[in-house]
Amino acid sequence: MTVTDQMGRPLRDLRVSVTDRCNFRCGYCMPREVFGPGFKFLPRSEVLTFEEITVVVRAAVALGARKVRLTGGEPLLRRDLPELVRMLAQVDGVEDLAMTTNGALLDRYAAPLAEAGLNRVTVSLDSVDPVVFEAMNGVGVELEQVLRGLESAAATALHPVKLNAVIRRGVNDQGIVPLAAFARDRGYVLRLIEYMDVGETHGWRLEEVVPAREVVARISARWPLDPVAPAYPGEVASRFRYRDGGGEVGVISSVTAPFCGGCTRLRLSADGRVHTCLFSRGGLDLRPTLRSGAGQSGAEAALRSLWSARRDRYSEERAEMSADHLAPKVEMSYLGG
Ligand code: SAM
Ligand code: SF4
Ligand code: SF4
Repeated sequence: MTVTDQMGRPLRDLRVSVTDRCNFRCGYCMPREVFGPGFKFLPRSEVLTFEEITVVVRAAVALGARKVRLTGGEPLLRRDLPELVRMLAQVDGVEDLAMTTNGALLDRYAAPLAEAGLNRVTVSLDSVDPVVFEAMNGVGVELEQVLRGLESAAATALHPVKLNAVIRRGVNDQGIVPLAAFARDRGYVLRLIEYMDVGETHGWRLEEVVPAREVVARISARWPLDPVAPAYPGEVASRFRYRDGGGEVGVISSVTAPFCGGCTRLRLSADGRVHTCLFSRGGLDLRPTLRSGAGQSGAEAALRSLWSARRDRYSEERAEMSADHLAPKVEMSYLGG
């Protein structure tokens, strides 16, 4: 039976973080100074097994979830990921099985993942300028490597390929129009994301946020855009169509125009905590339930009571609060975006 929260929002999407590790050190997510050689990632015993993840997915689907997205950290670092995809693709009721990745290992994995039943992939690509791209990923992975991954994805059943770009003023905002050109030329769907104050480690400043309306204005000055009606209630991106027929582009205005009212997303961390908001603190630890043998019905009962008590609307509250009063939050690399 489906479930709604205290604001009448149904549970529709589940994001599953399959690892807290990453082969990049993007400054806005896992800055090198914090996630250095001494950083303690989760020990393997604390990370959910594929069987445990599948139980949570089944429970969420029983409560109404229809979309599942694998994320991380970097999901392609999780060993045997195609096997998890195969297991989740068999869960009745999962209508859309997707993954968000930095793309560095995608050239190797696109075909096995598509074959295992993955439907779609979103690749995070912050710049098509090789110098800016290498600086932003924090480890010097070359742009070419991700471009090969993109081509492999486009060559399989994993399309339309989506691109995510986090825009920071003074870092990559000069590359907005080149990114749009790149995506238009190849038929990729680009989403430009406002830099968010997720976690505590990146020294977020409001001045670095490029408002989505400015992003749209910059692209529109080059190729005029028309707004597109949302494809479904609660769609996160505001979508626009190029008037010249060059496809579509979207912006995600989580900072300047929050969309908590339509937020239908539940997040599962790699160690089994469930969070009803990207900005939530502790979350609910499902691992004891999963490891006590309570099975799907135990997980379902826990998720039902969590979701039905949900009142989260952090981004709307942020717009109302001063930064000094904001409470500590969990890291994006832990929760998976
Ligand atoms: N490693 C994968 C990747 O980068 O695609 C998946 C995990 S990553 C945490 C998921 C998404 O969160 C990425 O598209 C990333 O750009 C985005 N992200 C991370 N930190 C962010 C921030 N501070 N503001 C906005 N988006 C952020
Ligand atoms: Fe890694 Fe993705 Fe975070 Fe970049 S955004 S550090 S690729 S988890
Ligand atoms: Fe959803 Fe929380 Fe983001 Fe609001 S702030 S849209 S409730 S994840």
